[in-house]
Amino acid sequence: MNTYSRLSEERLSTCHSDLQRVFREVLKIVDHSIIWGRRGKADQDAAFASGASEKKWPESKHNAEQSEAVDARPYPYDEKDFESMCLFAGVVLGVAKCLNIHIRWGGDWNKNYKTRDEKFRDYWHFELIGT
Ligand SMILES: [Zn+2]
Repeated sequence: MNTYSRLSEERLSTCHSDLQRVFREVLKIVDHSIIWGRRGKADQDAAFASGASEKKWPESKHNAEQSEAVDARPYPYDEKDFESMCLFAGVVLGVAKCLNIHIRWGGDWNKNYKTRDEKFRDYWHFELIGT
C-alpha cells in the first residue's frame, strides 16, 4: 500500500478538502509525492521570480487559505520520464471525475485533452475549478 511521507502529508493538509479526497484516492493507484500545497507570500514571490508560476501573490490558487491548487508528481520521480507524468495526470483527472470534483491540470489548461497547444505547461499542477 502506498503511503505519503510526513512532508507530503503536511503539504496536502494545507489543501482544500476536495483536493485531499482526490489525491488520497489517487495514492491507492499511483505512488506520488506532494510538492506544494499552500504557498505563502514569500514562496509565491519566489515561484513567480523563478518562472515556476505565472501568478503574483495572492492571485495563485496556491495562495488560498485552504489551497485550491496542489503540485504533485509520481514517486520515484524521473524528470526524463515525461510520459509517466502524463499518465499520472490522467489518473488524477479520472479519479476527480469519478468523485465529481472539478479539477484542471497545468498541462492542459483549456481542458481539451491535448498538451501541445499550451504555452505555459505546469505538469505538476492541479487546481480546483468551478463547474
Ligand atoms: Zn502549482
